[in-house]
Amino acid sequence: MDKPKIYLSSPHMGQEELENVKDAFATNWISPAGPYIQQFETDLAEYCGTAGAAVVQSGTAAIHLALRLLDIQPNDKVICQSLTFIGSSNPILYEKAQPIFVDSEEATWNLCPLALEEAIKACKKEGVLPKAIIVVHLYGMPAKMKEIMAIAQRYSIPVIEDAAEALGSFIDGQACGSFGDFGVLSFNGNKIITTSGGGALLSNNTKALEKARFLATQAKDQAPHYQHSEMGYNYRMSNIAAAIGVGQLKVLNERVAARRANHEFYKDLLGAVPGINFLPEPKGYSSNRWLSCVLIDAQKTGCTAEEVRLHLEQDNIESRPLWKPMHLQPLFESAPYYGQRVAATLFDNGLCLPSGSNLTDREKERIASQLKTVFSS
Ligand SMILES: *Cc1c(COP(=O)(O)O)cnc(C)c1O
Repeated sequence: MDKPKIYLSSPHMGQEELENVKDAFATNWISPAGPYIQQFETDLAEYCGTAGAAVVQSGTAAIHLALRLLDIQPNDKVICQSLTFIGSSNPILYEKAQPIFVDSEEATWNLCPLALEEAIKACKKEGVLPKAIIVVHLYGMPAKMKEIMAIAQRYSIPVIEDAAEALGSFIDGQACGSFGDFGVLSFNGNKIITTSGGGALLSNNTKALEKARFLATQAKDQAPHYQHSEMGYNYRMSNIAAAIGVGQLKVLNERVAARRANHEFYKDLLGAVPGINFLPEPKGYSSNRWLSCVLIDAQKTGCTAEEVRLHLEQDNIESRPLWKPMHLQPLFESAPYYGQRVAATLFDNGLCLPSGSNLTDREKERIASQLKTVFSS
């Protein structure tokens, strides 16, 4: 393989980020204290339209903190969208709670409101309602938040919105991450913007965010010595990472535009191929198109998603199946599941194509030529 690798989604850094990092060095604010942390929190809350944000070391840590803030106890039931990345659901295990997985629907690939209510009713019948619902905006496509929030409110169950992949996505102008009791963002290296690694908790409950910052800094009580009356974590974001984040957030809208342009590129390229399907935006929905995904009907196209992936790999082009549903993971073998086979079918037929906001025209030509070969044979 002598051709340079084309990545699925690689970091896309700018100049201001580097200037900010230099400034953090020059002023010696290196650790989880310093002016960029506060600024990044203010900027994120403003962009997403929430009362506040607390920045931490990962999206997974933010979900964990949300579960702590909702007082999830061992054996409590927590509903989670099955089609997602493990970071959505591992924190349920951290608290020794019981995950209950729910299927997706076809219009957004996210939490199915019907299956959600079925799961809640089943819990109710057994005598205990779930203590939280984790809904995900997969690949940047907003979930059906209006329907989901209505159900959650009917049963008074708090909602954690995993918007790790959906910074820059909106429903009727309202940002993903601002609908639920808590929203979660990730700034991992493959996400739409990155801080090298990091995450944020969004909320309109500023007191809860204050508590999140407290828990994220080892739950240190007010005292001249180190005094602790609660269990905390070392989760706070460093000023260096926040310095990168402040710069990245300024170019977010450009990054969204580039990812959306990638999606158009693939639609132009493959939209007319019988058996290839894209996920359209429902009315009022705006996806950041973090990853461009296609569904491949092997009967009609003559090749499976896996064959396409292997073909691209031969040319050193990275693509990846959709997330493997959590209810099909060995780790969650014994967890209850509600719904049909929507998530499983998406996993079987879906493929994420190279989607970086830094893809060059030459790289796109290489991808186009390989995809044309595979679908014309
Ligand atoms: C990336 C991601 C996370 C976790 O974020 P990290 O910052 O990697 O911990 C959680 N949920 C989803 C859907 C993600 O894509």
